[in-house]
Amino acid sequence: MRLRLLFPFIAASALGTSAAAQQEAKARKLHEQIFTVDTHADTPMNLVKPGFDLTKDNDPTEAKLDFPKLKRGGLDAVFWAVYMGQGPRTPEGNTAAKQEALRIFDAIHAAIKAHPTEIAMATTPAEAVRIRKAGKRAIFIGIENGYPVGRDLGLLQQYYNLGARYMTLCHGTNNDLCDSATDPNGPEYQGLSPLGVQAVAEMNRLGMMVDISHTSDSTFYDVLRLSKAPVIASHSAARALSDVPRNLSDDMLRALARHDGVVQLNLFSPYVKAQPTNPARAAAVQAFNAKWKIKNFLNVYSLPEAEQKQALAEMDELDKRFPVPLATVQDAVNQIDHIVRVAGIDHVGIGGDFDGGTELDGLRDVGEYPNLTTELVRRGYSRRDIEKIWSGNLFRVMRAVERARTAAPATTAGK
Ligand SMILES: [Zn+2]
Repeated sequence: MRLRLLFPFIAASALGTSAAAQQEAKARKLHEQIFTVDTHADTPMNLVKPGFDLTKDNDPTEAKLDFPKLKRGGLDAVFWAVYMGQGPRTPEGNTAAKQEALRIFDAIHAAIKAHPTEIAMATTPAEAVRIRKAGKRAIFIGIENGYPVGRDLGLLQQYYNLGARYMTLCHGTNNDLCDSATDPNGPEYQGLSPLGVQAVAEMNRLGMMVDISHTSDSTFYDVLRLSKAPVIASHSAARALSDVPRNLSDDMLRALARHDGVVQLNLFSPYVKAQPTNPARAAAVQAFNAKWKIKNFLNVYSLPEAEQKQALAEMDELDKRFPVPLATVQDAVNQIDHIVRVAGIDHVGIGGDFDGGTELDGLRDVGEYPNLTTELVRRGYSRRDIEKIWSGNLFRVMRAVERARTAAPATTAGK
């Protein structure tokens, strides 16, 4: 009797395990077959560090993207960010920002040149596909923060020529182009500045994607109203699941979809899932914010460089004393589910923000990206849907931006 009762249970659980294993094997195969692209990685911050080695399987606390991880993660293409925090908006500050941007472009170009059998630079979807066929990974370039443009829009052509195919208009604080979502002093222009309006037109003319990640809601709506080509959020998540100003509201998701744009999901844990309340941590965070004169814990990234370093060290300490559980791969796919429900399957992609603070439970570096596809398969996403998420949607937008460009070889912008 006992045996007869037990037997069906054992049989069912054995079947369950093998079905799960089969599903995972299927997902991994699918992940290898489709083209995968991540639109935001801060790897260049490692490239400029002396001694950093892309060929090494670095400890994930040091680097979340290197060649062994790209291979394990089945990642075919990635946008490396020419990132810089916002500094003084003075002629000297702008010159320094431009020099810093050029230094980062150089570091990216040097890394590509140093590893010709592993990676190659791409500027179009077709190039990326050719690079994959040659057995390599494609490196795209995006600029994070319009600061290095300063007030000289002619520089956009120069950055385009160096390979940049998107520019995030601002970072953590307002700049000369627009209002940021997280400036502690609030909005300055109620959207784009007059120079920002011209920048959007110039980016349309060149065929450089306008990236609205980090911008204020009003900037976002200005860009949608003015841009002649679809726009992207290179690394943003949905506010419905984590209510931070830097995430997108449902109304913004719908507006982005109406303009045929795409939101590339940011996998940074606090953006993926609202953090659980912990009064002791909240008090410590409040004291931290007061000390550094910031409104939001995450504004630490907009502090001047020297202060930022000290503040980040203190932030690490605080995180150790009051740990927050990491969001999981399932939470990340909850974000995808939500964006698909609100904006549709044609308007979501992946912009992980690895090497920029991202780490999830089950996805601690890009080497674990197959886990994301496995979860998508588990939830019933079709191969076609998963291809759209991993590259189809972004590539559609890139091609549309390319088609909309009107650039003549020489520019008079900024003169
Ligand atoms: Zn960012």
